[in-house]
Amino acid sequence: MANVTINFIEQIIKKDLEEGANNGRIQTRFPPEPNGYLHIGHAKAICMDFGIAKKYGGTCNLRFDDTNPVKEDVEYVDSIQEDIKWLGFQWNNIYYASDYFEKLFELAKRFIREGKAYVDEQSAETIAQQKGTPTIPGTNSPFRDRPVEENLDLFERMNKGEFEDGSMVLRAKIDMAHSNMHFRDPIMYRIITTHPHHKTGTKWKVYPMYDFAHGQSDYFEGVTHSLCTLEFEVHRPLYDYFLDQFAGADYRPKQREFNRLNITYTVMSKRKMLALVKEGLVRGWDDPRMPTICGLRRRGYTPESIRNFIDKIGYTKYEALNDVSLLESAVREDLKPKAARVCAIMDPIKLVIDNYEGNGEMVTIENNPDTPESGSREVRFGREVWIERGDFRKEADKDFYRLSPGGREVRLKGAYIIQAIGIDENGVVHATYDHNSKSGTEGGNRKVKSTINWVECGSAVDAEVRMYDRLFTEENPSAYEGDFREILNPQSETVINGAKVEACLGKAKAGDKFQFLKVGYFNTDYDTTEGKPVFNLTVTLKGK
Ligand code: ATP
Ligand code: MG
Repeated sequence: MANVTINFIEQIIKKDLEEGANNGRIQTRFPPEPNGYLHIGHAKAICMDFGIAKKYGGTCNLRFDDTNPVKEDVEYVDSIQEDIKWLGFQWNNIYYASDYFEKLFELAKRFIREGKAYVDEQSAETIAQQKGTPTIPGTNSPFRDRPVEENLDLFERMNKGEFEDGSMVLRAKIDMAHSNMHFRDPIMYRIITTHPHHKTGTKWKVYPMYDFAHGQSDYFEGVTHSLCTLEFEVHRPLYDYFLDQFAGADYRPKQREFNRLNITYTVMSKRKMLALVKEGLVRGWDDPRMPTICGLRRRGYTPESIRNFIDKIGYTKYEALNDVSLLESAVREDLKPKAARVCAIMDPIKLVIDNYEGNGEMVTIENNPDTPESGSREVRFGREVWIERGDFRKEADKDFYRLSPGGREVRLKGAYIIQAIGIDENGVVHATYDHNSKSGTEGGNRKVKSTINWVECGSAVDAEVRMYDRLFTEENPSAYEGDFREILNPQSETVINGAKVEACLGKAKAGDKFQFLKVGYFNTDYDTTEGKPVFNLTVTLKGK
C-alpha cells in the first residue's frame, strides 16, 4: 500500500496508543447542539470523531449538547441522527448533556461550598463591562465575596424559579485579572424559565453554560479525546481547570482542536441558515442550495462524495477557505460510474423526419459506457423527436457542427444520421434521415462530426428541472460586512418547466440519480408526483 500520511490528530492518537495512555482506550464523541440541522462543516467533525474511533478500535458516542432550551428542539435531535447515519456512521451510545443536569447541579453546589463560585446579581451588560480587555484587568463584582450560605440559598432559589431570567447568574470565582479572558469569573449557570427543555421539560430553571458542561460531560462518559474546532482552543485551559477541581487523577479527557470547514460562496453558520429558512429565502433546511447535509442529499450528493471531499481537504491547525469546486468535483467523480446517462431536453424544439415511415422502433442505448455491467436499455425512436433548441440554427455556419438547413449531417445519439431541411411556420424543424445509419448496425459505424440528444415525442415525459447555482455572489460571504441577504444570488435557482425527458424517467423515484447527457448530474426530488418527475441539478458536467 502507498505510504499514506496521517493527520496530526491521528499522530497524537497513535502516540497515545503506543504509550498506553488511558489503558489503550480510545473514546471520542460528536457533540452537536440540537439547535439546527447538520451542515457539511459538521460532516468534517463527524468524519474525524467517528473515523478515529473506527480506525483505532475505539468508540464514538453521539452527545447532544442540549444546555440551551431557548433554541433547541426534538426536530433537530431527529434530523441529526438521520444525517449521521446517512453519512455512513454509527454511534455506540446516545447521550444528552441534560442527562447530567443533576450531577452538574450538585457539582456547582460543591464549587460554591468550596468558595469557588458565587451568585452575581449584576446585569449581563455590567458583567461584560467589568471583563476588561486582554491588556486591562477586569473589575471584581461587588457580589464576589458573598458568604457561602447565601450563595447556596440563592442558587437553589434560582432553580426554583423565584427569580427572573437574566436577574442573576452563578459565576466561577477564579481571577478577574487573568491573561486568558475566559478565566475572568466565567458564568457557570444562567436562569431560563421562559422555554421548557425538549427532554427535561420545566424541571430545571437554571442551565449550565458550555464551559461548565462540556468537559464535565466528556469526563462522566469516559471520553479520552475530545476533538473540536479551533475556536475552542482558548477555552481549553478552562476545560482543564474545571476538571482539575473535581476529577480523579487516574484519567482525564484531553481536548484537541482542528480547523473548521469553510467553503466559498457558502455560509456555515446555523444562525444565518435559520434566518434563510424562517424568512422563506430558500425551500427549507433541505433546500438543494443549502450546505446542510439534508440539502446536499436533496441536491444529489452521495455520502461517499462528501466523505471523499473531507478526506481530500484534510485536517490542520490553520483556518482556511476551501473552494466549493473541490466539493463539486468530488460528487462528479463519484457519480460518473454510477449514474445512468439519459437524454433530457431542457429547451425543446420539435423535429420531424419527413422521410421516416412507420410507427417507430426501439433503439438500444448503453446505460453507462464507464460501467459496462450496467447494461443497456431500449429507447423508443420515431418520426417526431424533441431536440434542444440550441442544436438547430436557421443559418448555416461553417463553425456550427450541429443542425442547419443544407448543413452537415448529424447523428441522433444512439439512433440515425439526419440532415436538416428547414424550419416551418409552426417552428418545427424538418429533416431527412439515412435509414442505413442506425447505431449498432454496420451503417452505424459511419462517423459524422456531431451527435445530438433527442427524445421521441410520443413517449417523452414532461419534467420540472430545477437548475441550481451558488447561493451567494461573494466568494467569502462570512467576511461580507453588510447584511448577508444583500449578497444572495438571485439566480441561484431557475425552474425549467416542460423539459422533455426519456420515458424511463417517468418512473424515477426520489433519490434516483442520472446524468443528463451534455448537461450534468441530476437527482430526483421528492416533489416528484405520478407522471411528473422533478429533478435537481446536482452539478454540471464541467466546473466553472
Ligand atoms: P453554533 O453556531 O450553534 O455554535 P456549531 O457550528 O458550533 O453551532 P455545534 O452543534 O455546536 O455547532 O457543533 C458540533 C460539533 O461540530 C462541534 O464539535 C464543532 O466543533 C463541530 N463543527 C461545527 N461547525 C464546524 C465546521 N464548520 N467545521 C468543522 N467542524 C464543525
Ligand atoms: Mg457550538
